[in-house]
Amino acid sequence: MMKQTSLVGSLVPPETYIGPVMNFSPGPTSLPIAVELEVQKRCFAQLETMREKVTSPRLSTIALSHRSHEFGEILEESIRLVREVMEIPDEYEVLFTTGGGHGQFAAVPLNLCNSKDDKATYIVTGTWGVRAVAEAEKYCTPITISSKNQDDGTFTIVPNLDNIDPESKFVYLCSNETVNGIEYHKLPELSVPLVVDASSDMSSKPIDWRGSNVGVLFACASKNIGHPGVTITVVRKDLLGNANPLCPGILNYTITSESGNLWNTIATFNVHVVSIVMEWILKEGGIHEMERRAIAKSQKIYDVIEKSGGFYSTPISDPNYRSRMNLPFDVAGGDEKLTDAFLIETWEKGIVGLRTLTPFGVSKYLRASFYHGVDEEYVSILAEIMISFAKKNSDVPL
Ligand SMILES: *Cc1c(COP(=O)(O)O)cnc(C)c1O
Repeated sequence: MMKQTSLVGSLVPPETYIGPVMNFSPGPTSLPIAVELEVQKRCFAQLETMREKVTSPRLSTIALSHRSHEFGEILEESIRLVREVMEIPDEYEVLFTTGGGHGQFAAVPLNLCNSKDDKATYIVTGTWGVRAVAEAEKYCTPITISSKNQDDGTFTIVPNLDNIDPESKFVYLCSNETVNGIEYHKLPELSVPLVVDASSDMSSKPIDWRGSNVGVLFACASKNIGHPGVTITVVRKDLLGNANPLCPGILNYTITSESGNLWNTIATFNVHVVSIVMEWILKEGGIHEMERRAIAKSQKIYDVIEKSGGFYSTPISDPNYRSRMNLPFDVAGGDEKLTDAFLIETWEKGIVGLRTLTPFGVSKYLRASFYHGVDEEYVSILAEIMISFAKKNSDVPL
């Protein structure tokens, strides 16, 4: 019974396991332990006060009014830290939006296209791009440039970007397709403003905001920058003020910007968590160090796959587009018995999240995600298990 749970995506290791739960889930995911401790300390101060009988009691972040001076400071600091970590130039606004990544699928065309006739080009390299187009079709006229393999419906490459319709209001792309494992390590440089869904790779690499002509970049917090419930949307100021008249206020960038992110009740706790994550990134060495870690962690597993003589495989063959955040891989060509045995073995050693349930159905691929909460040491442990499992179950001298 217990073993079964590991096969259907449970995140609880066996009772007999002692040690850290190594969570490779694609999201929501574990924050670094240092961040979680800091969140506990700073966002639940009221609890602390009661416990330790502190003489200068204060309210927890979760108790603060979004219009209070105290929360105002948290909000301001959070924006300042996001700017510092992501090296965001002054001509951009940093907005905290609601509705997750999906909210932005609608908000982008509603803010950048004045009417449904306005054209926008969507570069589609995976499942999230497909979803974004489906939303965009309601609010603009998307032109799709897709790398979908017509034979089997998979996405394993990126498309050619030479013929972008110059009348496009924007060019949209997902910089890291979380499910498919395709990542733009560097954004393309196009003459039309770029809109980037960076939900799963935000804060894992620097962005060349001006060089890549970034118009909008958004990331839901649940993958690599915090806790679900808030989304960071970075908008270049010259793109404000041109929303479709039907754009709901809650999705409207100009309203959000002019109200200082306080048009309605902002996700106060989640904003504080983002701030604490950003602080942690700076303390650990900043965005370039985060990129180094993402490369080192993912490379460790890609190396095991490469050397496994086909026992493991990953669908993306071009190393220039292999994701450093989410690595899909199969075990023995997707053999059900061996895949299940592999899942149980990793689970017994404290590794969870390799098989998750997605809205896109069950695939033969497992997936290892390398967000900030995943230590390099956890990845080494996964690599060792992969090697010993392959040795046991194949003839490959790994
Ligand atoms: C998870 C994810 C989304 C969806 O975000 P929600 O917050 O669930 O709406 C969108 N894009 C990418 C790349 C994602 O990884």
